[in-house]
Amino acid sequence: MSHIDELRNKVDEVTLEMIKLLKTRTDIAKEIGNIKKNLGLGITDQVREEQLRAKIISLCYDIGLDESIGTKFLNFLLTESVKMQSETKQTHLSVFLKAKALEEEGKKIIHMEVGEPQFAPPKIVKNALEEVYDKGFVKYGQAKGMPAFCKALTESVAKKFGTNTKTENIIVCPGARFAVYLSITTLLNAGDEIIVIEPAWPAYKECAQSSGIKIRSIKTTVESKWEPSIQQIKDAINSNTKMIVLNYPNNPTGKILPLKLQDEIIDLAIENDLYILSDEIYSQYAYNREWKSVLSYNYKKSIVTQSFSKSHSMTGFRIGYAIADSQIIDKMAKLQALCLTNVSEPIQYVALQALKADTSNNSINMKTRLDVVTQKAKDMGLDFVEPDGAMYVFVKLGNESFDATKFTDNALNFGLALAPGEGFGDYKNFIRISACEEEKNLIEGMSILQKVLDKK
Ligand code: PMP
Repeated sequence: MSHIDELRNKVDEVTLEMIKLLKTRTDIAKEIGNIKKNLGLGITDQVREEQLRAKIISLCYDIGLDESIGTKFLNFLLTESVKMQSETKQTHLSVFLKAKALEEEGKKIIHMEVGEPQFAPPKIVKNALEEVYDKGFVKYGQAKGMPAFCKALTESVAKKFGTNTKTENIIVCPGARFAVYLSITTLLNAGDEIIVIEPAWPAYKECAQSSGIKIRSIKTTVESKWEPSIQQIKDAINSNTKMIVLNYPNNPTGKILPLKLQDEIIDLAIENDLYILSDEIYSQYAYNREWKSVLSYNYKKSIVTQSFSKSHSMTGFRIGYAIADSQIIDKMAKLQALCLTNVSEPIQYVALQALKADTSNNSINMKTRLDVVTQKAKDMGLDFVEPDGAMYVFVKLGNESFDATKFTDNALNFGLALAPGEGFGDYKNFIRISACEEEKNLIEGMSILQKVLDKK
């Protein structure tokens, strides 16, 4: 046998041995997952992970292996374990689907689980839908978006945020969700780390997880008014950290960060050369505190996502966009072209027209709705931090052992759909109440909530 064949055999043996060890590790992780579930514990344990990471760094040093390879491999293993243990988690979407199935059976449900504003899209949208055919918006188009639409978005962004945004800084996507997915998966690689401040919209973690990217969760609390400390973020940064996600006004808490804290977070990200993914789809619903777009920091490694879903009440049209440096946009456009060629031109044309509409009434109406839910929640003596914006109230229903997922299942039987807290992180005793329905439905929903609470 030649030397190379011998070496190849050895590589095969080692690889097979590694796979067997992976199976053993997976089985153990599964068992730990079951125990954690029975004890009502969260999936990730940052302290445990840090201990293991330290052991690996020390081993790498002893055996002469590049530490970044060792820790990336660890991140792969941890991400796989978390993925497996997350499979049974309930989110607002799973409740939404259950609610839809009940509606199919003829049951009346008040939807306070989803973030779908119950306003009509702007009137201009109706005419635009009719015009699409005659105007010939029926062909393939550019991956980054229709030039006329990109230009209009550029002008709208520059006017709103006082930035020097150009068309090469824009990519039109089928919803902010896909813009988030493109940002995370094109800029990060398997084994890299992303910081997510929790509670958080589930898709940041899910996008990262599906690409083998390790999530560093920073847990915030009612007590800290949903504000992370700078120290928490500093502690989460290591050589594998590549991105931090911000989402203010926040889903699910409605939080807007104090500007000084936001400035400090941005400074820290810049110091550590991190991408900042700032999901700003609720910017039109910023009420009780001054809000500042991440665009205004002029940071080359920032990506801001926006959408017509909430601002224009156009969730079903699936249209949003991202704003970033042209090199980042080019990377995102490559993957978008691969996945879907381009965003539907008819929808882009409709959104281009929608951009001309004045949607300030949506902001006023949403504030009224959010105030109704907030006041009712206060009257009911619920434990929450008053939202600064967005469309939700995030409520603590009991101590750590309280199972809010069971509670939301039970509420469905009474005709009320609510989002269980566990979908947003380690918040099993919380629910998110969405204020998107008309006022009378919200009032009815809150009285159903009181009824379910009384039976608790
Ligand atoms: N980001 C956040 C924070 C959201 O809450 C949502 C939807 N609920 C999205 C993005 C997705 O928006 P889109 O409909 O534009 O995909």
